[in-house]
This record gives sequence, structure tokens and C-alpha cells, in this order.
Amino acid sequence: MNTNRLERINSEIERYRAAQPELETILALYQKVFDIQESASSQEEPAPLISDEDAIAKLAAGEYILKDIPFEPSAELFHQTGLKLGRAFTQTAGEKFPTPALLKLIENHPGGLSGFITAMLSDNLEYLAKFTQNTSFNPETLLFFVTNLVSPFLTAQAKYYQPQVDLLGWDKNTCPFCGSSPRYSCLDKDNGARRLFCSLCHTQWNYRRIKCAYCSNANAEKLRHFYSALFPYQRVDVCEKCKTYIKTTDERRLGRECLPEVEDAVSIHLDSIAQNEGYQPG
Ligand SMILES: [Zn+2]
Ligand SMILES: [Zn+2]
Repeated sequence: MNTNRLERINSEIERYRAAQPELETILALYQKVFDIQESASSQEEPAPLISDEDAIAKLAAGEYILKDIPFEPSAELFHQTGLKLGRAFTQTAGEKFPTPALLKLIENHPGGLSGFITAMLSDNLEYLAKFTQNTSFNPETLLFFVTNLVSPFLTAQAKYYQPQVDLLGWDKNTCPFCGSSPRYSCLDKDNGARRLFCSLCHTQWNYRRIKCAYCSNANAEKLRHFYSALFPYQRVDVCEKCKTYIKTTDERRLGRECLPEVEDAVSIHLDSIAQNEGYQPG
């Protein structure tokens, strides 16, 4: 993220705040989170992990760029960012978020910070679930905290490789930079082409429209979507084969560029509808 992008995010948030005052709590939290993340990613300024040539070779071989590469953010900046995020969570929840204990758990991972991030990227978070049992917060909230803490450090690296991803293309249903599952999708304002968005590292990649973003099912009869009554440019794409859903913003209806992180935050009503209908986030 850069300052210019943060300004655009803030102006989108203001637009939603005016249109839907009931989103105030969630928007206030996200605004703080985006601000903290921007501060972290602008201070991190890392050297690229691998060269452009090596990145292109990996992508061409179908491997995501971070695969088998230890990723170690600056420990002090990581810690300070965690404390700031924790304060934002405490303010929103109205009760003390267990930041020091959670940071200790992360920083004392047997593989260090890079071991923790590798475990997180491979969804190996059992110890986090165990930690949840001793707090009044649910696992989703703790996972939301952890992913938002790691995200700006991954984003600061991933930005180097977006041009190679665009150049080479990537047809998989996992992120070409960090290997995570996509979180949101957008349909292009000019031609309706679909882009998937990784909420962890903010990489975007093109993906077929008639294809599940999670199980790769391409049978059109098993794929459908429904639009939001609240924001008619937002929709939910569901797969009847694996019973997952992904939220999508159609830029042709929105009339401007979709900022997936904002669209995701303001569309929680669609998560409720999809989950009540028996679909799970991918
Ligand atoms: Zn990613
Ligand atoms: Zn599916």
C-alpha cells in the first residue's frame, strides 16, 4: 500500500460511512487497521526477496514466489505494529485484547517469526486455536488480528512481483506470491474480466469467470451468483460442488475501481446471507 492508495481507501470509507451509518463500528476499526498497516509497510521498505528473473522462473514453473523462501520481517517493527493493532482491537471490543500474550506466542514460535508465518500460510494454526480457549475472543477474531498484523509485511514484498504476475499470468486458485486462497474478486470495469485478490499480500491475478475460486469446478450448472440488495454492484459467487462462496464487486456497476479490502469490509451482510444458506468462505 502507498499513501496515495491509503487516501483512496479513506475516501471510499467516507463514502460508505455517509451512505450506511450502521457500518460505523466496522469502518472505524478498518480505518485504524489500514492506517497502521500503511505505516508498517512504508517503514519496512525491504529489498526484494528474489530477483525478477527468479520470480518469473518460479511462476512459469507453477510455483508461488514465497514457496520455500524464509520470510523474516523486522522483529521490532512487527512487535510495535502488533501493539498498535491490539489497541485498535481493544477500543472496538470495549475490553482488553490479549495482545502481549498473543505476540509472545507468535514471537516464541519454534521456527521464529518466519516459522510462524510459514505455519500461518499453510493454515497450520492449531496452537492459535488452543490459545483462544483462554481468552474471551473467538478464533475468528484472533485470526483476523494475526492476518492483519502479517499482511503489511507481505504486501511490502509482494508489490515487487505484481508486474511479473500480470506479465506471465497465473491460472491457479491460490495466490501467486504467498500461496493463500483468494479472499475477494472484482470484475473489470471495461471488459468484465475477473481478478482474484489475496487479502494477505494484496496481489491480484486474472482468473476465469466460470470457475470456482476454491475447488476449480468449471461446470456452469454448479456455479451461480446473487446480487446484494444493499449495494447492487456487489454479489456473491457460490459453488454448489464445494459449497463455498466468494464475494465479488462488479466495477461495471460500481462505476469506479474496486478496492477489494474496502469492499470486503463493507459487505459483511453478504457473508451472513451466504453462510445462512449453507456456504462457507473459501
Ligand atoms: Zn498473497
Ligand atoms: Zn467449488
